[in-house]
Amino acid sequence: MPGRNFLFIPGPTNVPERIRRAINIPMEDQRAPDLPQFTLALYQDLKKVFKTKTGQVFLFPASGTGGWEAAITNTLSPGDKVLASSFGHFSHLWIDLCQRHNLDVEVMEVEWGEGVPVERYQRRLAADKKHEIKAVLACQNETATGVTSDMAGVRKALDAAKHPALFYVDGVSSIASIDFRMDEWGVDLAVSGSQKGFMLPTGLAIVCASQKALEARRSAKLARCFFDFEDMIKSNKDGFFPYTPAMMLIRGLRESVNMLFEEGLENVFARHHRLAEAVRRGVEAWGLRLCAKERKWYSDTVSGIYVPEGFNGTDVVKVAYQRYNLSLGVGLNKVAGKIFRIGHLGDLNELMILSAITGAEMSMRDIGIDIAPGSGVAAAEEFLRSTGKSFDTKIGATAAM
Ligand SMILES: *Cc1c(COP(=O)(O)O)cnc(C)c1O
Repeated sequence: MPGRNFLFIPGPTNVPERIRRAINIPMEDQRAPDLPQFTLALYQDLKKVFKTKTGQVFLFPASGTGGWEAAITNTLSPGDKVLASSFGHFSHLWIDLCQRHNLDVEVMEVEWGEGVPVERYQRRLAADKKHEIKAVLACQNETATGVTSDMAGVRKALDAAKHPALFYVDGVSSIASIDFRMDEWGVDLAVSGSQKGFMLPTGLAIVCASQKALEARRSAKLARCFFDFEDMIKSNKDGFFPYTPAMMLIRGLRESVNMLFEEGLENVFARHHRLAEAVRRGVEAWGLRLCAKERKWYSDTVSGIYVPEGFNGTDVVKVAYQRYNLSLGVGLNKVAGKIFRIGHLGDLNELMILSAITGAEMSMRDIGIDIAPGSGVAAAEEFLRSTGKSFDTKIGATAAM
């Protein structure tokens, strides 16, 4: 097929040419004497991405799921009580992982389309006078529904109850795309992965642990080997790894962090917000509804969009792929068939996002959904035009008379 695939799933995301080149290198010696100069500097810079001065970043050859496991197994013991909330495929899966590790998870069920129930957390924590709850889990960005939750609010809930539980955040589809503040929010374990905001291929679990979390590992009894912080700490100290690192991905991560810093983290967040807003204007113009129920839950990295009654969201995704070589996300689990998703994170600009809106619009019309041609893309265009950067027509080539 001529042209290229348009990848608009919420991970893996588009890998920029710069990162592809940085990864395309001959195999290297992971014990080379000059490797520490590279790795130690990278760890320092990764701390800036997590906005932490005192935390420690770990890189495991794994996906985000491995990051969940690393966070849990290094800091908890079998039977420990965990407070968590379930409102989508990913928040559910982390709970499932905890249960399979024999943790005692108290699950707050929340309607899909909403996020972490901060007030319920606060009441529950305040009632836990004996401090039996050892861990509080929160999914910052539920990728299945396009819902972002209030992480500062969870910290406030813990503080208001003067509760000492560790605070765990799933930031796989938010960190490096949506603001995240490890130290300010008192996050103890933050989990991310390489293939979303970091714009890399899948294969790295990127985990950040606070000093309190590192202290907890001394008494944590869950079995761990591959994901043991202890082994990592011993080797990372000198800039090496306890087993063969995924060096190509780590070289790519260096380039990814360079790109994030060149643009400026705050600008990266603002860009995600603006492109997400363009998608939302499109959805509104189509007369369709987001899966996220209220503005406060809207995600800047992924939008879940309800198709009208009688239509199947997965058909939209199939047609988009077959006819237009556009990859959109299907609805998962409880919202399978009811929604389709547009991933809008990572290496993305205005015309890229318009291509996804156009393709979604064409595909919806193809299966018979009654939306006015061009309506969504026009609304998105106008929003992007009215919020675009300034320009000067005097600069550059002038048309010859
Ligand atoms: C993608 C994702 C995960 C799982 O990551 P994998 O890399 O697929 O293991 C976990 N949580 C959230 C919020 C995600 O978006």
